[in-house]
Amino acid sequence: MASRSLTEDRQSTPAGISRLVDLMAERYGPFPEEPRLDPAHEVVFTILSQHTSDTNSARAFSLLMERFGTLESVARADVADIEEAITPGGLARIKAPRIKEVLNLVLERNGSLDLSFLGEMPLEEAKTWLRELPGIGPKSAGIILNFSLGLPAMAIDTHIYRVCRRLALIGPKVTVDKAHGILEAAVDPDQVYQFHLSFITHGRQVCKAQRPQCRDCVVASDCPSRDQFMAEEQDPVVEPGRGNGKAGTKARSIKRLPHSPSAEEGTP
Ligand code: SF4
Repeated sequence: MASRSLTEDRQSTPAGISRLVDLMAERYGPFPEEPRLDPAHEVVFTILSQHTSDTNSARAFSLLMERFGTLESVARADVADIEEAITPGGLARIKAPRIKEVLNLVLERNGSLDLSFLGEMPLEEAKTWLRELPGIGPKSAGIILNFSLGLPAMAIDTHIYRVCRRLALIGPKVTVDKAHGILEAAVDPDQVYQFHLSFITHGRQVCKAQRPQCRDCVVASDCPSRDQFMAEEQDPVVEPGRGNGKAGTKARSIKRLPHSPSAEEGTP
């Protein structure tokens, strides 16, 4: 981006982001901080939630724990049995060996599955420790540390990433991995959990990948992408060969908007 408007500069500050979070939380919240799983269970739950819906991952987690009782038992179990238990959650062939490997690596490195010590570490060290486990990237590490241990670690999923780009909180060329560090530095540590839930809800319900509902958007007055989406809505792109045949129908090729989703946005 060659130059940033005053609005964009103002809203990328902690105060500006805090205002966006407050507006979204007022609309979609409240989002009370509820006790979640302990960190080892959260690790397993996070692996089960990768590339599947919340409902399916919750079901797979319940089935896994019903069958094995404890994570120590899961660590000792045959991969085939783990796979059978979590099949309803999807991608069981990939996730079953990963879960077993991760649990055994934690046991090897830590002597137990008690990961509460991560909460005492400096945040960067805790993230590094988790990211050395297979299948744990920045988003998964952020979820485990923020949701389970209450640390101000950022977890950027596809919805949050899209909303942040459209609101110009991050530049158009910032990757999702880099976005974690940028947003973690920009968001008030006390508001990271609220930020996560507000932005993800906004992305799912209003600022959708296709056809964001800018007319019904609580942060529209702060959004530098709104005018372009509204213009597209009034002058919809018609795919060549799919016009209604009436004189005057304007057919143009599909073009990608600056803040439109990238290919990775197929994740639920
Ligand atoms: S105005 Fe539109 S593009 Fe901007 S945040 Fe709202 S829904 Fe998303």
